Amino acid sequence: MSPPPFLHPFTPPAKNEFLTIVRGDGALVYDSAGNEYVDGMASLWFANVGYGRPEVIAAITEQVGRLHAYHCFDPFTNEPADQLAERLIALPPMDDPRVFFASSGSEAVDTAFKLARAAHVQAGHPERQIMVSRSAGYHGTNFGGTSAQGIIPNREGFGDLVPHFVTVPHDDIEPMATLFAERGNEIAAVVTEPLQGAGGVYPPPDGYLEATRRLCDDHGAFLIMDEVICGFGRLGTWFGSEYYGVRPDLITFAKAITSGYVPLSGVLVGSAVCGPLEADRDWVLRTGYTYSGHATACAAALACLDVTESEGLLARATQLGERLQAGLRSLVDDGLYAGVRGEGCVYALAMHEGQDAPTVRNRLLEEGVILRPLGPTALSTCPPLVASDEQIDRIVDAAATAA
Ligand code: PLP
Repeated sequence: MSPPPFLHPFTPPAKNEFLTIVRGDGALVYDSAGNEYVDGMASLWFANVGYGRPEVIAAITEQVGRLHAYHCFDPFTNEPADQLAERLIALPPMDDPRVFFASSGSEAVDTAFKLARAAHVQAGHPERQIMVSRSAGYHGTNFGGTSAQGIIPNREGFGDLVPHFVTVPHDDIEPMATLFAERGNEIAAVVTEPLQGAGGVYPPPDGYLEATRRLCDDHGAFLIMDEVICGFGRLGTWFGSEYYGVRPDLITFAKAITSGYVPLSGVLVGSAVCGPLEADRDWVLRTGYTYSGHATACAAALACLDVTESEGLLARATQLGERLQAGLRSLVDDGLYAGVRGEGCVYALAMHEGQDAPTVRNRLLEEGVILRPLGPTALSTCPPLVASDEQIDRIVDAAATAA
């Protein structure tokens, strides 16, 4: 059988069998055969407010009917984009941020790199080109993000990547300190996730993020927090930066800003970056996307922020996470898995030697639960923040059966 016309992302191109998801409701999704699944991954780390939300659907429908989109290149803007930006700047631990909009996490990351370099150029420091990233980091699949990838296989097979990208170990601050000592005045920025997600669900080692902030401050580099997974409640705070007590210069966000109802991403840009960009009134920021500030995406985001606030989903993330973590730890105590790591409401089960994460994932599907293998050695869970206690227990019970 030849493969279907749809060439899938992160999939062997020759593969021809897929599981068709047709419907969702809260933290549940259903396949084309009518099977129900607890979505223990919020799709791909994004569906925080859950599926089928009438408030979000109404906001999207209303905006599509009025003005589905109009571009925001000079001189245009639209009301949902302005309202959303106004609302977003109050949320992160940053000095006086502004917001740049895009559609995917990858676009946000590449834009953050360009903004960081552009700010240095505008400030008279074109020599600052180096981007420092951490092993096990995932920063999307555009060329900048691919060059910053800490997941080595994701970098390979695409020819030459962008120059001046340097990866340092994610679990040891010393090599980063050495790099700053040797080349600090050439470094444009450090990019890091607060908690590393797709690379294995690794919380930062104690003091790592604070030390990174200090190195950036001491050497005039920017700190970019890639909050594409952590942003909008995953750790029980609006941003992971707040959770870990670190003030970034730039934050990239995507995914849960709209819970995926319409794609939207962006970069929160602090005053240290905006200052040089704004200094010359005639200078033009020559980057952006057709859909930067997409009106319907921004309307969806406003509705998702409303739901997050009115349903107390930040506090709920902490409660759910405690229950999930306790359940997963009990499986480790029973010897079913080798370990559990994570924080807030995102965890990974580490496999025993000989235990294969994709095989366990397939058994979990038969049990009506979706988790995601991160390579062969770990299985991640990142449920919608509207999951019930009972649904969290179903995830844990299924993981026990499928071990
Ligand atoms: N950055 C992080 C931390 C991510 O987890 C992801 C996606 O999982 C991205 C960037 C890329 O986002 P997208 O797939 O929307 O381009």
